[in-house]
Amino acid sequence: MKVSKVNGQIQTPAHVTIPFIEGDGVGREITPIMQQVVDQAVVTAYGGVRSIEWLELLAGEKAFRTTGNWLPEETPEAFRQYLVGIKGPLTTPVGGGIRSLNVALRQELDLYVCLRPVRWFKGVASPVKEPQKVDMVIFRENTEDIYAGIEWQQGTDEARKLLHFLTAELNVTRIRFPQTSSFGIKPVSEEGSERLVRAAIEYALHHNLPSVTLVHKGNIMKYTEGSFKNWGYALAEREYAEELRSGRLTIKDVIADAFLQNILLKPEDYSVVATLNLNGDYISDSLAAMVGGIGIAPGANINYETGHAIFEATHGTAPNLAGENRANPSSLLLSSVLMLEYLGWNEAAALITAALENAFRAGEATNDLARFMPGGRSLGTKEFGECLISKIKQV
Ligand code: NAD
Repeated sequence: MKVSKVNGQIQTPAHVTIPFIEGDGVGREITPIMQQVVDQAVVTAYGGVRSIEWLELLAGEKAFRTTGNWLPEETPEAFRQYLVGIKGPLTTPVGGGIRSLNVALRQELDLYVCLRPVRWFKGVASPVKEPQKVDMVIFRENTEDIYAGIEWQQGTDEARKLLHFLTAELNVTRIRFPQTSSFGIKPVSEEGSERLVRAAIEYALHHNLPSVTLVHKGNIMKYTEGSFKNWGYALAEREYAEELRSGRLTIKDVIADAFLQNILLKPEDYSVVATLNLNGDYISDSLAAMVGGIGIAPGANINYETGHAIFEATHGTAPNLAGENRANPSSLLLSSVLMLEYLGWNEAAALITAALENAFRAGEATNDLARFMPGGRSLGTKEFGECLISKIKQV
């Protein structure tokens, strides 16, 4: 049975089919662990009343080996039909005309939000003094900005044409070394900004979170980053006037460089963060590092209008660890928690979070984390999965 979106609400059937991509490299190890842990959480939470049937989709090396195609057409089509899915990391093919399989999937389904929640788990080593103060959810715009890949290499005909257009038609005089410049274009639209900020506000309201902060560089890039901020405020005033008046919603903004200072000095000031693509890239990794979680940070790519969502491990295929039973499955597991919450299966999600909290507090983790924990006990990927399953069974 498929997930659907009815009157703006995600509807999850009791016995639901969830498509998944196993992933390359360590994906082959962490994805089965994630499925076993999720299955156990669903059994413990709901008895047999709810269940997941996993539907494998091909992408990456496995797809290339069996079909000769890195991303068979059926894969995005199945995500389109089933609405919600999850994926392990994929190798970026070198050459072959595909920039990145992840980018291709995001574009195909117009997954305009890159969602990155960041919190600290007690027991996990962190480079900052008070990691418990970091508790944020980043909404990174996923389809626009300098990331759209509209750029031209120095010395090409296209770069020369663009230069001519800029100087002859638009009277641009401030290109310091015109003949040797490469060029990139940064599109930022009103619709694109509004749908991102709307998603962030809805999330804050739904989760009773104290504020939404628009992070931007509008002091310098006035018409792109500055407009993002202005459109964000205007949207809030237009669509959420009541919530603003009653104090249920607080909207504020901060310039990106100040934000990167402030997250080190007073991270407790921020809760939900909405930002453009490139800022969001830097911010989410920087925050993840602050909680010691760069390797365990969860993520999702979502279109809140159609309901399409793909949850994913945020790290890569870790070829240096593949096949060694050493990879940490936590990023994918925490992404499965986000997925279960998105489906409305909060009880199962909470069981997985609690199992991870208990494990980390007891110093039980894979080697990448355990080696920095006082008294930490390094477990293999499989053994860590078994440890979590036994904790969930004990509830
Ligand atoms: P990577 O994330 O695979 O590895 C970076 C470092 O982090 C390595 O030292 C690795 O051992 C460690 N690491 C990563 N995941 C880990 C885990 N689960 N447990 C323990 N340690 C872990 O990044 P990379 O080496 O730059 O990329 C390798 C491949 O992955 C490339 O083909 C790249 O394009 C691809 N990639 C895919 C995604 C994705 O599918 N979302 C994201 C990033 C990179």
